[in-house]
Amino acid sequence: MICPKCGTELVKKYYKGMIEVDACPNCRGMWLDLNELDKLEDIVFDDDAHKGSLIHFQSTTGFSCPHCGTNLHEFQYRLYDLKLEYCAENNHGFWLDAGEDERVIASMRRRADDIQRKLDVESAWKQTLKEMHSFLMKRK
Ligand SMILES: [Zn+2]
Ligand SMILES: [Zn+2]
Repeated sequence: MICPKCGTELVKKYYKGMIEVDACPNCRGMWLDLNELDKLEDIVFDDDAHKGSLIHFQSTTGFSCPHCGTNLHEFQYRLYDLKLEYCAENNHGFWLDAGEDERVIASMRRRADDIQRKLDVESAWKQTLKEMHSFLMKRK
């Protein structure tokens, strides 16, 4: 598979000990397959923490899905102020630019501080990924 952003060959990597991703060794972005997200163990959503985590549907981009080559679409994940690209045509998965995952973690840290709760980065990430997964599944 080829990086949608810079055209470099993607390499398999295990992300935070949770799921296999296809990472770009050049621009450091990564592709997350929808069926990989499916393998995440079920976790219980913390509704309070995710209030207002609306996903805004955005426009099409000039980047191509590494699986099918169709244009990726972009959506905004409001809770983390993130713009992510995903395969709208065939629901193959989504792309995280370099540093976007760290932004999610930083944002989760602030929220955890706000509600004075200990943050477990791994389970918070699982929750985020599951949320994106259910967003994409809902579109089917
Ligand atoms: Zn790249
Ligand atoms: Zn695709």
